[in-house]
Amino acid sequence: MTEPEAFLECRCGACRITLCDPALRSHTQCLCFDCRQRGLISASRSPGNSLPDAVANFERGIDLLYFANALIVDEASRDLLEFSKLTADAFNTTAMSTCCGTLMCGTHPLYEGRTISVNADSCCVTTTSSLPVQAVAFACDIPDEHAAALVQRSTAPVVFSVYDELESPTMKAFVSAVTAPIAAGASAIATTSFEELCAAKPLTIDNACFVESRSGPS
Ligand SMILES: [Zn+2]
Ligand SMILES: [Zn+2]
Repeated sequence: MTEPEAFLECRCGACRITLCDPALRSHTQCLCFDCRQRGLISASRSPGNSLPDAVANFERGIDLLYFANALIVDEASRDLLEFSKLTADAFNTTAMSTCCGTLMCGTHPLYEGRTISVNADSCCVTTTSSLPVQAVAFACDIPDEHAAALVQRSTAPVVFSVYDELESPTMKAFVSAVTAPIAAGASAIATTSFEELCAAKPLTIDNACFVESRSGPS
């Protein structure tokens, strides 16, 4: 069997998550308040983690890559993972590295446990797989003039309110991609999943940077 060659690595290199299936399941950009808030929380943890200028200025969304939830994580890296939600009833759960505040990966009930999302503006992603951006999500969360400019410029479909548009072809394709069964080969070599890693740790509720994330252009 060949070694899995795809992995996620934090910015300082201390924390690594091996992806047992290197194939990208989807690629989106997200403009939502919550992604912005998580990015700002990460920025508050370590110098150098600030949002990319284009994201800060609403020229593009956070770059999100989606992979099968079939992982290998050694003890040293497990120790460095902290799991959090923005609020107790939030959908997303996020794994952040405590060494340097990198957003390593996250999950959402929509993925049905089969997929993890990775903020590629924060986490270093190594894979041979690539996909063009397939959707720009949550344009409803950025100022109108920036949303209008993005619609003009974007080569991918722009979705305004994701939860109101789950029946659109763009969202149906996304849900189909993130709920696809995990390949047998990846399942066979995986030693853990996001949920299993999360269950072994306390879940933190961290709603820092709430106002800043929703305050519009600075
Ligand atoms: Zn680190
Ligand atoms: Zn988002």
